[in-house]
Amino acid sequence: MADKVLKGDASGRGQVEGFRVSIPARQHPYTEEEIATVVDVMRNCECQTQGPKLAQFQKDFAEFTGANHAFAVDNATNALSLAATLCGIQEGDEVIISAYTFCASAIPFGKAGAKIVWGDIDPETWTIDPKDIERKITPKTKAIVAVHLLGMPANMPEIMKIAKAHNLKVVEDCAQALDARINGQHVGTFGDYGCFSFHGAKTMTTLGEGGVLLVKSDDDAKLVPGIRHNGCTGFNYPRERYWVPAMSNVDLDIEGFWPNNFCIGEAQCALGSVSLKSLKKNTDTIIATNERLRELLKDVPEISFNKIPEGYRHVRHQWIQHFDGSAFGKDRNDLLDLMTGKYGIRCITQYYPLYRYPLFQKLGAGEFDCPVLESWWDNSFSVPMWCGMPDEVLVTIADSLKAAIADLKK
Ligand SMILES: *Cc1c(COP(=O)(O)O)cnc(C)c1O
Repeated sequence: MADKVLKGDASGRGQVEGFRVSIPARQHPYTEEEIATVVDVMRNCECQTQGPKLAQFQKDFAEFTGANHAFAVDNATNALSLAATLCGIQEGDEVIISAYTFCASAIPFGKAGAKIVWGDIDPETWTIDPKDIERKITPKTKAIVAVHLLGMPANMPEIMKIAKAHNLKVVEDCAQALDARINGQHVGTFGDYGCFSFHGAKTMTTLGEGGVLLVKSDDDAKLVPGIRHNGCTGFNYPRERYWVPAMSNVDLDIEGFWPNNFCIGEAQCALGSVSLKSLKKNTDTIIATNERLRELLKDVPEISFNKIPEGYRHVRHQWIQHFDGSAFGKDRNDLLDLMTGKYGIRCITQYYPLYRYPLFQKLGAGEFDCPVLESWWDNSFSVPMWCGMPDEVLVTIADSLKAAIADLKK
């Protein structure tokens, strides 16, 4: 078995030297329509940034998600930065953030001066536990950052109830959860702000970088263009001579912070509008392939998946499982040594609890109280995945896991 190299797909994605099945850098290739769209902007559009493609993409994205307002930006980290600014985070405010996430969920809030309070995970869904949020609220708490990690919606109905009761802002990190929903409602539209990523590794990418900030309130929405683009407010105000106000349109409607340039170009926006059209089909495909893996492993008691609550659309952006080898004295590391070494499946571990990173420890965010995450994380692991994964590869991954577990039991 081990001498046959399985190709991920026709372009060889999913294949890395030394491994039979690896993790591709991108979930699916660009379509010809997507390529033509970018080339068209290069050839025919005079305006390269902040033009009609931006306006169209924002409209398309708001329609897709059902949001009040959508603002395209250069990446999700900066969408989160805008959210931190709009929350009015000041030195010493406390922000409760899921400890189980990518570092970018927390960095903008730390940078804004917040004290980060790490939220624990729910043992079944592996997203931030509303009960733990409630436990950690103090008079200094200003906001909650809920992350829909792996594509699984966090429990937004409960989180919104708690936020309302304590008058807290809610930011949703939807970087991995485009098209995820709860009872039909898109993530990113529950809280005050929703932050999406079109980084190259996400389900949809706008040439490697890109993002969107969803905003609920009309008042907040008025502030975003200025803080997104160096305080530029547009030229659509009455003036005597059109040439007079060169750069006199630089101002902000709120005081107390410097603006940014978080803009995204027209080619990326045009691509975003086209990619949205095939997004649901792609997420459906990824969901179906993950269901197949779950089915293949359903009789393996040592491997478990997160439980998906009724009405939740979990888009399976990353495939993470939990291994329980305690009955025979083995752990996740023993399993992955075999999976990567003997069986050639490039499994990895990802999303370390953020408080374990030297970065956060050095910045004063190393304190934590997350017993569920602590007892769960060290036995979690990812297997390779991409959109359109052939069944042969899924079967190989499942068979290899079964074989590796049998080896460990010997
Ligand atoms: C990718 C990611 C981000 C950051 O997105 P960028 O667009 O790369 O800035 C933030 N949060 C989570 C959970 C992510 O996976």
